[in-house]
Amino acid sequence: MPPPTVLNSGEPDARCRARPHVVFVPSAGMGHLLPFFRFIGALSAHDVDISVVTVLPTVSAAEADHFARLFQDFPSIRRVDFNLLPLDASEFPGADPFLLRWEALRRSMHLLAPAIAGVRPRATAVVTDVTLVSHVNPIAKDLRLQCHVLFISSATMMSLCSYFPIYLDNKDAEADVGDIDIPGVRRLKRSWLPQPLLDLDKLFTKQFIDNGREVVKTDGVLINTFDALEPVALAALRDGKVIRGFPSVFAVGPYSSLASETKAADAESSALAWLNQQPARSVVYVAFGNRYHVSNDQLREIAAGLEASGCRFLWIVKTTAVDRDEAAGVRDVLGDGFVDRVRGRGMVTKAWVDQEAVLGHPAVGLFLSHSGWNSVTEAVAAGVPLLAWPRAGDHRVAGTVVASSGVGVWMEQWSWDGEEWLVSGQEIGGKVKEMMADAGVRERAAKVGEQAAKAVAEGGTSRTSMLEFVAKLKAA
Ligand code: UDP
Repeated sequence: MPPPTVLNSGEPDARCRARPHVVFVPSAGMGHLLPFFRFIGALSAHDVDISVVTVLPTVSAAEADHFARLFQDFPSIRRVDFNLLPLDASEFPGADPFLLRWEALRRSMHLLAPAIAGVRPRATAVVTDVTLVSHVNPIAKDLRLQCHVLFISSATMMSLCSYFPIYLDNKDAEADVGDIDIPGVRRLKRSWLPQPLLDLDKLFTKQFIDNGREVVKTDGVLINTFDALEPVALAALRDGKVIRGFPSVFAVGPYSSLASETKAADAESSALAWLNQQPARSVVYVAFGNRYHVSNDQLREIAAGLEASGCRFLWIVKTTAVDRDEAAGVRDVLGDGFVDRVRGRGMVTKAWVDQEAVLGHPAVGLFLSHSGWNSVTEAVAAGVPLLAWPRAGDHRVAGTVVASSGVGVWMEQWSWDGEEWLVSGQEIGGKVKEMMADAGVRERAAKVGEQAAKAVAEGGTSRTSMLEFVAKLKAA
């Protein structure tokens, strides 16, 4: 395998410079990469040098595209190409492609040390994804660099991530994983936990435990949240209630999308053009992220529900876990009849849209979402009510935040991955209609949106946290 290539590294070594140099080591999956890119964009406004490790090949076309745009938008950011060692996928039959990627990354991480040591000016800190931290933190410590985690989920989820190993240590070894009382945060029911955590032999769970133990040994954790959204979880992490000696917590969200994301959407998206034709707050935006696909039977129930609701809708349909594998057309899955019947009041697309631009559009009145954390924070920032229908992973934990913050309604009883029953079109349609008519939920979501805007404005909690993070980098 070729050695890591360091591009744009022509500057002289300047060991004594006060200017920090942060090397970002992101993971894979758009839900992991987008918050990295957005945070990097925000950090680049400060007096900091930045390098970004770019793992090749990327998992999907969307990933490759977004990496290219990042370096185009920010020419001063250095790109460190990193070629992944091949992984024998037959070791993990049936594993999800992103989980395999995380494992491949973890197994290649020993090659990262020379890549980080080789960047010029000399690196002073590393910022990595939680999926890689158990490998990256020791490397950073060997190189005497600060190591921070940029956590892509909620503060509540961070409390679970760091407390889970302790919960296991204290649990009767023979007993199943049950409800988890996270000190100072809340009780999380067993049925809300990411599904693989119920099986300690799963690859995901092993990675989760290793990373959870290591997070506590890092120098800081950056979270895409803000104090008014998750006051209890943030206070519990900071006050050492979850774990004594927890590293610095920087609540620096919600992040904004980069200019290039918006530019691309303007150029490509017929979705925004369609929204321009719709009355204010009349459209239900429906999207379940790009990591989890919904079964065709459930898709047909959603279609029936949207049709029965009588509301206008913009629906992003995904039928596979990786975007480049998308083959089936909308008509193949939903049938010609549906597409023809809803013509004019419903738009269904499989294209990539700029979700932040969609949520910021005045025509959108409700977001039926899987409550992936990026989607939640984007709805929060836009002040759009959420109808949260978790599908997998951390989505039910995010649902607890949707409910406690008032930004929307969490359908705790609706089924998710691994629960065989379908939520009926009738129930979906009824709930959509009810929420579209609910002025109270609209008002609450707008208020949370205002709090989000205040947090990132001059003097706001997230802005202050960002300055504290930069000050910590400079203290290296
Ligand atoms: N996204 C987008 N356009 C699409 C599909 C997804 O902009 O067509 C973005 C979305 O705005 C969010 C991210 O992809 O920032 C998905 O992350 P999330 O945490 O919501 O869900 P995941 O896909 O990780 O389950």
